[in-house]
Amino acid sequence: MLENKNTSKTSISELGEFGLIDHLTKNFKIKQKTTLKGIGDDAAVLAAKSSEEIVVTTDLLVEGVHFDLSYMPLKHLGYKAVVVNLSDVYAMNAEATQITVSIGVSNRFPVEALEELYEGIHTAAKYYNIDVVGGDTTSSRTGLIISITAVGRIAKGKSVYRSTAKESDLLVVTGDLGAAYLGLQILEREKKVFEVNPQSQPDLEAYTYLIERQLKPEARKDVSKLLKELEVTPTSMIDISDGLSSEILHICKQSKVGCNLYEDKIPLDQQVISTCEEFKMDSTTIALSGGEDYELLFTVKMDDFPKIKGNPNFSIIGHITHEKEGVHLVTRANEKIPLIARGWNSLSEDSK
Ligand code: ADP
Ligand code: MG
Repeated sequence: MLENKNTSKTSISELGEFGLIDHLTKNFKIKQKTTLKGIGDDAAVLAAKSSEEIVVTTDLLVEGVHFDLSYMPLKHLGYKAVVVNLSDVYAMNAEATQITVSIGVSNRFPVEALEELYEGIHTAAKYYNIDVVGGDTTSSRTGLIISITAVGRIAKGKSVYRSTAKESDLLVVTGDLGAAYLGLQILEREKKVFEVNPQSQPDLEAYTYLIERQLKPEARKDVSKLLKELEVTPTSMIDISDGLSSEILHICKQSKVGCNLYEDKIPLDQQVISTCEEFKMDSTTIALSGGEDYELLFTVKMDDFPKIKGNPNFSIIGHITHEKEGVHLVTRANEKIPLIARGWNSLSEDSK
């Protein structure tokens, strides 16, 4: 299935560290006005305006922990490594402008494999209009390690934190949830089938959206602009990397508020619903605990309801309450269940 196909193999040692960096980064073009010096000096130099704030975020991805190369093509991995970082910048309401890319590679990887990885990084950099301005390259004894740092900019005082949600605010989420997690389940299932029977030709037609959400996620670059056009300022914001319930709990804990989340309002794609039915999984649990959706979760003032209502990009899924009311899921049966970080206190306890 999605094997990494590196037919020609050039050893990294043939190029040497500097040769390798030059080779991998030669296609990167500087597009951002704020990049004064990119790759090639001791450090990158970025322009700063006194009217702006600079947002910085880092993610570290480790083979075998965060990704599995048996079903993650390196090109997709490069793309996704950039996306997960940009998602954090967008979750601050900022515009992403630069990244640095650091890699630890074992000699099991030929140059051609790193070319694929960098092709994915390059594609993401072009799509999201960011410059790759530096990084570091080192050898690793075991697997592949990728660390990306992203830099973004936002007008002074306009960064949106997790800690500023207020009682009676509305809780809003972009896109739909749970698909990336189900995509991972499908890929892992196919990997096991493939291990038993390498000749198997999987039919993944019914899961294309799920697999795409897992292998080629996108960050919500558009949301900050959409909200500006609607003249809505989010009161708090976070990106959904670990699952809806965990992110809601972050906002509530840091803002010292409670929340009611309505099960029937959680946005689900049709493929999520049908796949959950097929595998006898609960779609709400998947959306709450799945993770890797890279959608944005934010709160807005109640007064902004008319501006958000009916917008296809947004779903209003709950509202913020006083801290002492706690954080709850209101089920379709109108039961209130406390939200916990991994899924919710499942109905199985009640049904025993
Ligand atoms: P130093 O010895 O000062 O750390 P390096 O030789 O590691 O410098 O890096 C030289 C230049 O190449 C620097 O601009 C650095 O940011 C950039 N660079 C190094 N590794 C990578 C990489 N994996 N991806 C992108 N740029 C890199
Ligand atoms: Mg270095």
